[in-house]
Amino acid sequence: MPHILESQSALATWLAGQRAPAFRAQQIQRWLFQSRAAAFAEMSDLPQSLRESAAAEFDIWTTTTAAHQKSKDGTEKLLLRLSDGKAVECVLLRDAARRTICISSQVGCAMGCVFCASGLDGVDRNLTTGEIIEQMLVLQRLLPEDERLSHIVVMGMGEPLANLDNLLPALDVATSKDGLGISARRITISTVGLPPGIHQLAELNTRFQLAVSLHAPNDELRNELVPVNKKIGIQAILAAADHYFDVSSRRLTFEYVLLDQINDQIVHAQQLVRLLQHRNALLNVIPYNQVAGLPYKRPSQNSIMRFRDILEAGNINVQFRQLKGNEIDAACGQLRRKSVEIQQIGD
Ligand code: SAH
Repeated sequence: MPHILESQSALATWLAGQRAPAFRAQQIQRWLFQSRAAAFAEMSDLPQSLRESAAAEFDIWTTTTAAHQKSKDGTEKLLLRLSDGKAVECVLLRDAARRTICISSQVGCAMGCVFCASGLDGVDRNLTTGEIIEQMLVLQRLLPEDERLSHIVVMGMGEPLANLDNLLPALDVATSKDGLGISARRITISTVGLPPGIHQLAELNTRFQLAVSLHAPNDELRNELVPVNKKIGIQAILAAADHYFDVSSRRLTFEYVLLDQINDQIVHAQQLVRLLQHRNALLNVIPYNQVAGLPYKRPSQNSIMRFRDILEAGNINVQFRQLKGNEIDAACGQLRRKSVEIQQIGD
């Protein structure tokens, strides 16, 4: 059955075929996105016959929740089983008034960052637009009725710029007033740094915030940590990011996962200052979330402070991200791995 979340035009075409007025599409959207309806049967202002024929024609839910973890700080993480048996993770984070969701764009990841759990087995496939939207709806349903989703980060599994064709229509629904009504300024797309993808995004849609996962201040180290860098290079990424900044006037964000004894040395902080000091950029330093089976560790508090002091002395706008959902494997890919392990143990 077609997925109702996959395509708004397919719904419009189907309604026209049913000789239903076009405004029914908007009504259905509002039921799904604002009233959090779980089934067509709940859509009480649609004619009964239309509710029944829509239910016979479309699926609303294509995923099932295979695991649900809650952390003391309010973070909730879901492992969603897709209709083909594969799985992706998505997360709800609570921070004061913010209700941020972190969603996946692909099953697995082809980028191969050596410290990340998502890419350990490569990429299986792109998520569909419907599957990306479904993550938003499933996470929204975890909130009490009087709370709304406020922010989206596309920082779950996968490389979003490798799946822009399916991602952008999903984000359009997230921003639309009949959809989730989330301001595009509150939506961040995080990329490993693919210049053609950044240019494509700059051409298609500049409303979103862009975050570039840098993780190293020189190509030698970045080639080791982020293997796709060998074909790209930091300068090409910065040039593409600068271009996105020029056309979007969105402040750039760079992410830097701090790995003990690897990219946390004084010289790395000094090199970062040189790379970023003339840019209107925010550097988001992320404490590493340890991944079972990988040798990387989070640096000591002392090295983290030393790193921070050098960046601040260099006038870099830096933010040290609080670790959220630590005890529930919140770093991308970890829950899926664990469930695979559990399945393997069970077999
Ligand atoms: N492919 C995109 C988006 C997914 S990864 C990207 O590279 O940005 C989202 C962010 O989480 C990236 O900055 C990534 O490096 C970081 N990350 C991955 N594994 C992590 C871990 N174990 N601990 C902390 N951050 C991690």
